[in-house]
Amino acid sequence: MYKRISGAKDVLPEESLLWQELEQISRRVFRAYNYREIRTPLLEEEALFSRSLGGASEIVQKQMFIVRNQDEVYALRPEGTAGLARAYIENNLDKGAGFAKLYYIGPMFRRERPQKGRLRQFHHIGCEAIGSHQPQVDIEVIALAHQLLRNWGAQGHQIKLNSLGCPKDKQALTQGVASFFKAKLSRLCADCKIRIEKNPLRILDCKNDACREAANNLSLGQGRLCPECNEHFSRVREGLTALGIDYEIYPALVRGLDYYTRTVFEISHPGLGSQDALGAGGRYDNLIKELGGPDLGAVGFAFGVERLLLVTSHKSQVTSRELVYLIALGEQAKKEGLKLLGQMRQAGICCDTDYENKSLKGALRKANDLAAKAVLILGDDELKKGAVTLKDMQSGEQKEVALASIVAELI
Ligand code: AMP
Repeated sequence: MYKRISGAKDVLPEESLLWQELEQISRRVFRAYNYREIRTPLLEEEALFSRSLGGASEIVQKQMFIVRNQDEVYALRPEGTAGLARAYIENNLDKGAGFAKLYYIGPMFRRERPQKGRLRQFHHIGCEAIGSHQPQVDIEVIALAHQLLRNWGAQGHQIKLNSLGCPKDKQALTQGVASFFKAKLSRLCADCKIRIEKNPLRILDCKNDACREAANNLSLGQGRLCPECNEHFSRVREGLTALGIDYEIYPALVRGLDYYTRTVFEISHPGLGSQDALGAGGRYDNLIKELGGPDLGAVGFAFGVERLLLVTSHKSQVTSRELVYLIALGEQAKKEGLKLLGQMRQAGICCDTDYENKSLKGALRKANDLAAKAVLILGDDELKKGAVTLKDMQSGEQKEVALASIVAELI
């Protein structure tokens, strides 16, 4: 018997209802903020990701699913920003509307060690605003993420905020972090000994106790940012405060990808355990240019769908009692029944029938199991009269209704 691969998940119909509602709530929030949906391919050139995220990032180094096609190397997208930026440039979206607000919902793939909250195929709900350096856009994107969580019924999450500054500031930060840890090299884990050469900021994300302890006295406080970046960060903080959005400054929040500049943020939830990030994002002011497009500022974020589903008190609003179940007894009734089902479906009524040749009793039991709202019984007697018996499954009451008027009666 085949099993699903490790780190992949089947979303069964019950749970699927919640997925649909989360998507619907998200789409409504994106709409309110005037974001439009974009759908980009699951496969992209591998080079797009190594260029965007950085060859030394954890994702590019270890986590991409690679697909080889003759001389070409593709990757299953591990995140949405790079593909979206590629699509923005390739489709000249800067020439039309200019400033663009785009959102996406879909699967991402990372070859990680599966554990609770960490899958190999997971899903992102994310957005990007491309075409502005204004701090108001950072504020708007964080406010959007905050509202999405509120509308979804999540509570108790925390917004962690930091600024990496411009590329110059970020380089100085990287050098500072590297020289701090070089003095403590022997205490670092094997991975961090490599990170110190390739991507020193990633040491700050290491979960290893010894590395965390080594980071204890690292000072990443005030004064790191150039005056412009400092001003930008102040405006972001003021804007969030003015909107009543709580956040905490986390100087050690660095995000491990090359493209981030200035504002970075992460939203965590204590109910998630060790994989506590619900979502994250930030500004990437050089990516569009790096990929061959115009020099445009951009900012975005992504939530993990599977984690959003773990932290909500949201219950499915879909009333399961909407099904009308037809029980047609006998060949002639079954033929008539098919027509009746067709009419009901055309009228948008959710209906079904028994395809297992059950007795009346068995079919009624099935209707009950399916939580049907009503049952229609069509037997020889009813056929002769051109009628159908309508049974209300909650009250148990039943009456005969003319076949010609049953659809109207049900509506
Ligand atoms: P990242 O691009 O890593 O910041 O991911 C954004 C969000 O996606 C995270 O905060 C998680 O909620 C979710 N996420 C990332 N990786 C995984 C994974 N392997 N499995 C499940 N969710 C993930």
